[in-house]
Amino acid sequence: TYVVTENCIKCKYMDCVEVCPVDCFYEGENMLVIHPDECIDCGVCEPECPAEAIKPDAEPGLEQWLKLNADMAKSWPNI
Ligand code: SF4
Repeated sequence: TYVVTENCIKCKYMDCVEVCPVDCFYEGENMLVIHPDECIDCGVCEPECPAEAIKPDAEPGLEQWLKLNADMAKSWPNI
């Protein structure tokens, strides 16, 4: 899965949402998250993010962000 990280906070770009083929982005007040069970790992969103906030979860050190994405995707609206 891909994970949205801190550079997304207060970001106004939504380019990632437009390209995601499975609509697995969810929106909170300050940032977006990706639902890890819905993401099909296609990777098209990563280069679209102008803030470079989207990273593959295989990257080291993203455990807490992965947990946040998973938790928040359950309570925030799908966009
Ligand atoms: Fe959507 Fe693909 Fe990005 Fe996953 S990797 S969030 S499926 S665009």
